[in-house]
Amino acid sequence: MSENKNEIGKDEFATSGDGQAIWQRVRHRLRRDLGDGTFSSWVKPLALKGRDGNKVTFGVTTPFMRDSILARYGNRIVDYWREEDPAVAEIEISVDAPPRDEAAEPSFKSGAPATPANVTPLRAVSAPQPAQSAARAKDPVSALDFDAPLDARYTFDDFVVGKSNEFAHAAARRVAESPNVPFNPLFLYSSVGLGKTHLMHAIGHEIRRRDPSRKVLYLSAEKFMFQFVRALRYKDTMAFKQKFRAVDVLMIDDVQFISGKNSTQEEFFHTFNALIDHNRQVIISADRSPSDLEGIEERIKSRLGWGLVADIHPTDYELRLGILQSKAERIYARDGIQVEPKILEFLAHKVMSNVRELEGSLNRVVAFASLVGRPITLEMTQEVLQDLLRASERKISIEEIQRKVAEYFNIRLSDMHSARRARAVARPRQIAMYLAKQMTPRSLPEIGRKFGGRDHTTVMYAVRKIEELRAGDRTLDEDIDLLKRMLEA
Ligand code: ADP
Ligand code: MG
Repeated sequence: MSENKNEIGKDEFATSGDGQAIWQRVRHRLRRDLGDGTFSSWVKPLALKGRDGNKVTFGVTTPFMRDSILARYGNRIVDYWREEDPAVAEIEISVDAPPRDEAAEPSFKSGAPATPANVTPLRAVSAPQPAQSAARAKDPVSALDFDAPLDARYTFDDFVVGKSNEFAHAAARRVAESPNVPFNPLFLYSSVGLGKTHLMHAIGHEIRRRDPSRKVLYLSAEKFMFQFVRALRYKDTMAFKQKFRAVDVLMIDDVQFISGKNSTQEEFFHTFNALIDHNRQVIISADRSPSDLEGIEERIKSRLGWGLVADIHPTDYELRLGILQSKAERIYARDGIQVEPKILEFLAHKVMSNVRELEGSLNRVVAFASLVGRPITLEMTQEVLQDLLRASERKISIEEIQRKVAEYFNIRLSDMHSARRARAVARPRQIAMYLAKQMTPRSLPEIGRKFGGRDHTTVMYAVRKIEELRAGDRTLDEDIDLLKRMLEA
């Protein structure tokens, strides 16, 4: 009984002047946005049914229609409706039996009373087989949202070229400046924070600048996967495919994230092949070379390596300084804050992990200085970056090595420096020298000095001796492995 009451409520809404009038205005706006063709395919079929709490309900005749409309226009319908009636938070579309009368185009003559024909499909809502999944239009990202904004800061002008990235940079330039497709795909790889994403965006900017009609699509592999899975869920893979295959330049960043997701891999591969077959430019990035990608099918890996593979190496001091100078110039132009060369040199020496951290360290120092209103000094820099510098300085010292090795072989620490030549102490000492050479950046003479002022040739001899012994002595080899692991922990 109560259900009936409820339905009467919906009827009243659907046919009340209010609901109808709002819907008419919303439809009007949609028709203007979408054009007549799209409007009649996607909006016209929606039959306004009623209101259920903060939900406006509609009916269509197929799941395909429901899912497509929700994915493409759901959010917009909600937004427009809310402007008229802020109490509305979402829409729900159910799949109903086709109306018996030929009412594909519902009539919305204002205030038209419900005819019995209109009422019939309504009851289907609470019938034994109600609408299947009531997909919501409130999902954060529409299924076909491919927008890929390019970061305005990531241009070729802002990219500093050095030995470690000149090849990747030249390849990126070539792709961006050629009217045709010089190599396909361009595969960029490096460890994190060395400029892959920057280069891809730079290519995108440059291509758009030269020919705004070329369609450039940039997205992360994760987003590609996410979009694809959504398209599957909404049974909308056709539109997904068409959208991707209509681009001139496709860039997929961090492709290692696709590994192991089989259906996504498959779709990625098809899209990739289709684009390459049609001579569209594809640019891929990853954190390792195509052949080192794990969990990706062989044929995909091999195809990824068909074009040009370019890697970016870790930065050297000159490049780090160059990057810092360029960032410092920008900071000066923007905020009028001057960072002295000696600070930049200090950072270029100390922050070696990657460019992202390098930039971050400079920004932190500048932000701190401007907050406290003091000039940037070396002391301040060291203080502000304490944790970061300590982390990158978490280097193993020769003293640590000596201590660990002495402990391990049960000899006295002083024997590391002593002149005793007994095998029981001489061999551990040689092992410690060997480890010092391997695990610290110290030179042979420096190491010699730390071992009781020994000559560098003694250290060299020790290193060779241990290398030789390791090759033939299983126990010693394991001892050294274990020591290394303990020191690194
Ligand atoms: P990746 O994608 O390889 O992880 P990014 O492209 O995100 O690295 O780069 C990390 C940060 O370092 C970005 O802010 C980028 O602008 C900057 N960067 C990297 N390489 C350079 C370079 N050669 N010149 C200027 N900035 C760089
Ligand atoms: Mg990146």
